[in-house]
Amino acid sequence: MSSFKEVFETYDWDALEQEIYAVKTEQVRAVLRKQKITLEDFKILISPAAKPFIEEMAQRSNATTKKRFGTTMQMYIPLYLSNECQNICTYCGFSMTNKIKRKTLTDAEILKEVRHIKSLGYDHVLLVTGEANRTVGTDYLTNAIELIRPYFSNISMEVQPLEREEYEILRQSGLYAVLVYQETYHKATYKMHHPKGKKSNFDYRLETPDRLGKAGIHKIGIGSLFGLEDWRVDSFYTALHLRYLQKTYWKTKYAISFPRLRPHEGEVQPKVEMTDADLVQLICAYRILDEDVELSMSTRESEVFRNHIVPLGITSISAESKTNPGGYAVEKESLEQFEISDERSTAAIKEMIQSQGYEVVWKDWERNFTNGF
Ligand code: SF4
Repeated sequence: MSSFKEVFETYDWDALEQEIYAVKTEQVRAVLRKQKITLEDFKILISPAAKPFIEEMAQRSNATTKKRFGTTMQMYIPLYLSNECQNICTYCGFSMTNKIKRKTLTDAEILKEVRHIKSLGYDHVLLVTGEANRTVGTDYLTNAIELIRPYFSNISMEVQPLEREEYEILRQSGLYAVLVYQETYHKATYKMHHPKGKKSNFDYRLETPDRLGKAGIHKIGIGSLFGLEDWRVDSFYTALHLRYLQKTYWKTKYAISFPRLRPHEGEVQPKVEMTDADLVQLICAYRILDEDVELSMSTRESEVFRNHIVPLGITSISAESKTNPGGYAVEKESLEQFEISDERSTAAIKEMIQSQGYEVVWKDWERNFTNGF
């Protein structure tokens, strides 16, 4: 098997949708009696029929997460380096045709942002850019990683998909993890929301985690953007992708995120609503499926939701995020990629987490543990 594309093509979206929506209560009960669940069982846990069992799923998710991760919660923060983008994505404020002021941080500006982030306590940072190969290609990213490496134990990245060789160069510069979301696994809907630019190539994006695995990147984050398509089917494909990657690149760690569409410049309304209860059901289902996968929660979600989700299976949470380049210290007023919902400070989130009996962790690993991987 040379890539996930071969597995992906053996599944049919409509058939999966029908199966998930036809699940019966008895099937949910049977799955919840099992110790270990399969991908087929996961389908049952994300079905509408499993909704009345959320409480039971939440208890199991809580216990499983504590067994594997203890009572810890990792904090992370994004550092937006650039809002330049050569793609059109209908749901994003940085989309190429949006008339916004474009900005890419200089070395001095990056360091100013880094000083602010460090003052908040973080020892791990997520670098984010739009997809503009000429401005924020591998050379720019290599320089940025080398520049900030002395300040952080771990550096993650959420930027344009790259070639395997480029990931290898970045890994050698100190890159630890890469997040790349498929947005939706529904090909026609994907095409509709990504009409122009390199991102319109569905297969290239789909095969990006394979290139990351082959390049030996320590951790890979995947996920879908909820609202573009039916969240249940997209989540099944994400789980399928996860299982394939775990089997193929077994030395790598994995993480899943759950972004729901948020307001931004050039609004697109969610096609399918995902309620708070749906999101809880999904988080618990992922945890019951997989003890080891990291589950991550961003500031897109509301204060109330984030307060409640802490003990239900997630393992990392962001705080005080700015989604505009220079948003912390350089140019606070520039346009954000999307609006943040939970605007509390890092200190307030830390306190909220500790009040629930969890210890806050500021980095993933000591750098010496991952050197040479
Ligand atoms: S989602 Fe990414 S690729 Fe698409 S417009 Fe926004 S920054 Fe560019």
